[in-house]
Amino acid sequence: MATAISGPRVLLRQLRETMAEQLASQDRLDKIVNLIATNMHTDVCSFYVLRDDNALELFATYGLKRESVHMTTLRLGEGLVGLIAAQAEPLILENAPSHPAFAYRPETGEDPFNAFLGVPVLRAGQTLGVLVVQNRDSRLYGEDETEALLTTATILAEMIATSDFDTLIKPGQDIDLRRPRSFNGQSFTEGIALGQVVLHDPRVVVTNFIAEDTDQEAARLEAALATMRVSIDDMLAHGDMVSGTEHYDILETYRMFANDRGWVDRLNEAIANGLTAEAAVERVQNDTRARMLRSTDPYIRDRLHDFDDLANRLLRVLTANGVVTPRELPENAILVARNMGPAELLEYDRTRLRAIVLEEGGSTAHVAIVAKSLGLVAVGQAQNIVSMSENGDDIIVDGPTGLVHLRPTAELEQNYIDKVRLSAKRRAHYVELKDTPSVSKDGVKITLLHNSGLVADLPMLRDTGAEGVGLFRTELQFMIASRLPKVQEQVALYREAIKLSEGKPIVFRLLDIGGDKVIPYLRAAPEENPAMGFRSLRLALDRPGLLRTQVRALLAAADGGPMKILVPMVTETWEFVETKRVIKLELERLIRSGGRPPSDLKIGAMIEVPSLLFELDHVLPEADFVSIGSNDLIMFLNAADRANNRVSKTYDPIALPRLRALRHIVDMAKRYGVPITMCGELAGRTIEALALMAIGMTRLSMSPPAIGPIKEMILGMELKPIQAAVAAALGEGQSGVTVRDLLLDLADKQGLVI
Ligand code: PEP
Ligand code: MG
Repeated sequence: MATAISGPRVLLRQLRETMAEQLASQDRLDKIVNLIATNMHTDVCSFYVLRDDNALELFATYGLKRESVHMTTLRLGEGLVGLIAAQAEPLILENAPSHPAFAYRPETGEDPFNAFLGVPVLRAGQTLGVLVVQNRDSRLYGEDETEALLTTATILAEMIATSDFDTLIKPGQDIDLRRPRSFNGQSFTEGIALGQVVLHDPRVVVTNFIAEDTDQEAARLEAALATMRVSIDDMLAHGDMVSGTEHYDILETYRMFANDRGWVDRLNEAIANGLTAEAAVERVQNDTRARMLRSTDPYIRDRLHDFDDLANRLLRVLTANGVVTPRELPENAILVARNMGPAELLEYDRTRLRAIVLEEGGSTAHVAIVAKSLGLVAVGQAQNIVSMSENGDDIIVDGPTGLVHLRPTAELEQNYIDKVRLSAKRRAHYVELKDTPSVSKDGVKITLLHNSGLVADLPMLRDTGAEGVGLFRTELQFMIASRLPKVQEQVALYREAIKLSEGKPIVFRLLDIGGDKVIPYLRAAPEENPAMGFRSLRLALDRPGLLRTQVRALLAAADGGPMKILVPMVTETWEFVETKRVIKLELERLIRSGGRPPSDLKIGAMIEVPSLLFELDHVLPEADFVSIGSNDLIMFLNAADRANNRVSKTYDPIALPRLRALRHIVDMAKRYGVPITMCGELAGRTIEALALMAIGMTRLSMSPPAIGPIKEMILGMELKPIQAAVAAALGEGQSGVTVRDLLLDLADKQGLVI
């Protein structure tokens, strides 16, 4: 009969001494299993490591036959050890051989042992191995013993991550920790990027696991919890926080968790077992992460994410002077994040960034748009990638398919290097097309334009051969500035943009601030639904100073040349008329002060709020041109947040209702003789662009990398039969096949590359 353990603290101290000794890896492991068995009074202690081929290999044992070390393996899910690894949960049995999952391995001589306790060896929620103790007699191990073994497993996880086990494993095999992993995300952009992981929210690296003085560690934890609670209370009490908003709710949840007795008790227990405060947080966080990785319920995953974030906060408090992963970016940095705002992305050194990978986000969220605008490859919805990645891991982001490969094999990497070469060839082919006019085979001319947001994007006009910039999102420059740009700074910026576009027209859109486009130095009251809140033109008309300054700068920057200004988020015609009045005032001011007015000033309205669709007969006569913002328009039509993939992906943007709405705008613009452009992300995707051309849209503005593929499609197509087929499909009484399927079929018949 095993007696109570002599205390995990003693064991941890002995483990620390063993770690510090000069020993070969195998000798060290042998000594560790001996120590655990002796300390816990068990007949057996075995340590299994998960290999990259999903086999759990016996790496060390005390009590089983020595010859089975590195010989015995169990597949993930096979036997008791495989079960623990697959479920990432401890298993306690009184009589192990009678368990249905028990898999007998004669070479181990395991049969006489009845009492069984196995725990997963976890790191960042991933199972790296399994640690088992066994006794001859039939009994149930207690909670204390389970906790002690879990604590010991934390140390072993660190050992797996940091030791050189290559010498112990057969050639051609590797431990699972370094296994390549692939994620099936959602494509945000074209392009392929190879590089190294940079975690946007860097994990705190815990280096000190074993406590010198347990009381001191308990006091450190208490102090850190207090600091964290105060900081959460402070944030909640902050004047800006409005109860009921999402941010407030998150913090409120944090506050609840921070005071959660169960969580705090588990932390204290881990410390009582001999871990440092930070190692205790990591140990408890490991369980949370393991559950997070296995949970398919989005609600539970979100809550576990909250716990995970809270543990990160606590770790940062505890290691305020500790080691935090440095922020310097490697040459080919690939940002990996749960989510981030566009402003956060813009804070990075863009010359070193190649791609971003998010666990959340939607393809028309502004962070995705900014990524596109920066020429980054971007993929979203890569579930659980943050906890599986380490800073510096090799990673490949495949934009078109949305696949992300973490720690790719050499073959896969070579495959991608070839693909990149091929796509370089394709790009070269697109460059060859740049001076070819984009006219369909049956003579329909389509004007292709760039969506742009930063002056740095504009030289790309030369490579794509686009006819101009259909949408210059002026707010992006404001987002990367540390303070509000003064009028002269704005003039310089717009002048530079005009210069870099080398005579091609640019449509400058007035500031579209709000929603997820946060400008840090313009404080705004939090809103429950910022996308439908006090944003964009609503804010501009309320703060005419901001609007007038921008208009003044734009008119001056034209230097007597042409100028096109686009007004965003027009909900009712009067707002557009009012904006025109402000522009006219500024024009008069310019003339009065002796400045040169633009030779040709055109003012256009964005159609992106559904309400405007029902007074197009009012707004069109007022507008020199109009531009459809499909990102917002479709979000509002579907009542599905563009940044929330769970809902935005559900509704096909070119299905009947949306396409009928778009066709109505096109028809009305034609009737009023007003030029119309599509500037939302829709125009940059081949099949969607085909749908737009099919309903009569001839001006498409898109992210620059989309120009080549879309021009190639235009050059190869007969548009008129497609227009006729879509018109019939949109007519009344048609049902059955979707517009998308119809277009795919038509494109296929014409041999178009979609
Ligand atoms: C749109 O809404 O489609 C648009 C072009 O504007 P933004 O994406 O900047 O909101
Ligand atoms: Mg918009």
